[in-house]
Amino acid sequence: MTETQLREQICLLAKSMFDRGLTGGSTGNISARTEDGGLLVSPTGTSFGRLDPARLSRFDADGALIDGDAPTKEMPLHSAFYDTRSSAGAVVHLHACHSVAWSMMPDADEDNFLPPLTPYAIMKLGKVKLLPFFLPGDPAMGEAVRGLAGKRSAVMLANHGPVVAGKDVEAACNAIEELEDTARLAMLMRGYDARALSPEQVQNLVAKFDVEWD
Ligand SMILES: [Zn+2]
Repeated sequence: MTETQLREQICLLAKSMFDRGLTGGSTGNISARTEDGGLLVSPTGTSFGRLDPARLSRFDADGALIDGDAPTKEMPLHSAFYDTRSSAGAVVHLHACHSVAWSMMPDADEDNFLPPLTPYAIMKLGKVKLLPFFLPGDPAMGEAVRGLAGKRSAVMLANHGPVVAGKDVEAACNAIEELEDTARLAMLMRGYDARALSPEQVQNLVAKFDVEWD
């Protein structure tokens, strides 16, 4: 994929998520690795509905901003994933309503945020770590991701939103949509004693699809 195509893909998928209400206003940010080892990042204060391919923040392989507008203030979250997961080709963060709602439940599971409701959430996300609440811009947010030492591709920031790394933009976006959909299902089924996947079914999925499940 050329850099021009990558720029267009970032903006197209961001707009698709915005149009479906997965993140509103000027929330959400997205980044992707370029072929030369640099990064393209959504600029600060921009809306996912109106990203301009020509104005994305462009970093070189040494992490210096070389072109475009100033990057998102949540850049430390993105850097933490790239620095700890060599497989990360893209990172996306949303302020997605249902996953935020699920993060505020008193019995939220910190080590395994999503209940095992559907196979693709497990296959695309592995175990999702629930991190505590941080003030916006607090560098501790990035440090918390680094503290996971690359073991998780997806985290949920309590009272804030999910952050997911994937091998490319499409994989990261598909995975974060699974996260939000599963949180929505969990909210819908809460109180109904729903039949989730059994521990054996989860283990079969993990084994068959080589899911990161530590
Ligand atoms: Zn945020």
